[in-house]
Amino acid sequence: MALACLLVVGALGFTLFTASEDLEDALLVQLVSEEMDFLIKRHKQDAGFTPQPSSNFQSYIVRDAQDSARLPDYLRKLGPGRHELYVGKDESHILVREENGIRYYVAYEVGLYEQREREFQLLVLLSVLTAALVSLALGYWLSGVLVRQVTELAGRVGTLRPGQAHENLIRPGQDPEVSMLAHAFEDYQARIEQMIRREQEFTSNASHELRTPLTAIKTSCELLLADSALSEKSRARVAWINAAASRMAEQIQALLFLARGQALGETEPVVLADCVAEAVEPYQAEIARRGLALETDVAPETLDLNYQALRLVLANLVRNAVHFTEHGFVRIGYAAKRLTIADSGQGIATEDLPRVFERFFRAADLGGGTGLGLAIVKRICDQYGWKIEVESVPAKGSVFSIVFP
Ligand code: ADP
Repeated sequence: MALACLLVVGALGFTLFTASEDLEDALLVQLVSEEMDFLIKRHKQDAGFTPQPSSNFQSYIVRDAQDSARLPDYLRKLGPGRHELYVGKDESHILVREENGIRYYVAYEVGLYEQREREFQLLVLLSVLTAALVSLALGYWLSGVLVRQVTELAGRVGTLRPGQAHENLIRPGQDPEVSMLAHAFEDYQARIEQMIRREQEFTSNASHELRTPLTAIKTSCELLLADSALSEKSRARVAWINAAASRMAEQIQALLFLARGQALGETEPVVLADCVAEAVEPYQAEIARRGLALETDVAPETLDLNYQALRLVLANLVRNAVHFTEHGFVRIGYAAKRLTIADSGQGIATEDLPRVFERFFRAADLGGGTGLGLAIVKRICDQYGWKIEVESVPAKGSVFSIVFP
C-alpha cells in the first residue's frame, strides 16, 4: 500500500514538475509577444516613440545607425526570432522582429519567474517526500493492526509442542478470519494429541504384554541354570537364551522410554561402577566368545542421575562396542564427569560420523542391528542434558564419551 501511494504521489509530483516548466515557457512567450505587439503599435502611432526601460522589460527600436549604436552589445548580434540567453547571471527571453526595415527588440529578464518556479518545484518535492513518509508510516501502522492477531496466533502455534497440555487458541474478540484459523489449528492440535495418545497406548500395551512372557522365560532360564543335572552344552544354550531375553527386556525398556518420553524423569544417587557392571553383564559371554579384553576403570563416584536412563545408554554403547569389535579390547572409563566407552573395533568412516545418531542409520557394510540404538542414546542424553561425543578411526576403533553436567 505504501509503495502504491509512493508511486501515485511520485507520478503526480513529476507531472506537476514538468507542467510547471511548460507553463513557464508558454507564459513567457506570450508575455514577450504581447510586449512586442504593444511596442510596434506604439511606434506605428508615433514614429518618434522611444521606449523607456521598465524593471523587467527592455525594449528598443532600431531605425538607423544612431539607434543601432545605442543598442546593448548582447542584442546587437541577434537576428530576428526568439532567443534565450544569459546577461550576467540573469536569464533573458528576447524577441527580435523586423518590419519595414525597422528592427524591434524586446528583452525580458526572467530572474523573478525562475525563482518562483524553483520555489514551486521545491514545494512539490517536499510534498512528495512528506506524502511518502506519511504513507509509509500509515501503511506500517495499518498492516500492524491487520496482522497483529495473525502473528500473535502464529507465535502461540509456534510454541506448541506435541504432548504438552492443550492450549486454547480461540480468544474472545478475535477477527472472524483469525478465529477460523484458530479453530482449524485447534482441530489439528486435537487430532495430533489423539494420535500421540493412541501411539503411546499401543507402545506401552505392547511393551507390557511382551514383558510378562519375557519374565517367564528369564525365570525358567534361571531355574534351569540352577539344575545341576544340566549338561555343560545345554547350560551354555540356556545362558545364551537368558542373555537374549535380557537384551530384549532392555529393548522393551527403550521402547517404553521413547513412547512415554518423560517417564524416566526422576533422578537418584547412582553408584556409577555398579551401573557399569550391570550394563556389561549381559555381554560377558559374547566378550569371552570373541576373546576380547574388558577393561573397566571407573572412579568410585556417586552421581545424581536417572538410573534406568544411564543403564539404557550404557547397554547400547557396550553392545555396539562388543558387536563391532573382532579382537582387542572394550574399555570403559570414568573420570572428571566424563564416561568413555572405547573399543579397538572396525571404527566408523569419517563421512558417517555426523550421521551415527540419526534414526535408522547404519554403516553400509555392517550386518545386523536396526540403527535405532544410538538414536535412543542421543535422545536420552539430550533429555538429561548429558553431552555425547564420538571419535573414531576406521580399522582402529571408536570412543564414545558422555560428559555429565
Ligand atoms: P545398530 O542397531 O545398527 O547398532 P546403532 O544406532 O546402535 O544401530 O548404530 C548405528 C551405526 O553406527 C551402526 O550400524 C554402526 O555402523 C555404527 N556404530 C555404532 N557404534 C559403533 C562402534 N562402536 N564401532 C563401529 N561402528 C559403530
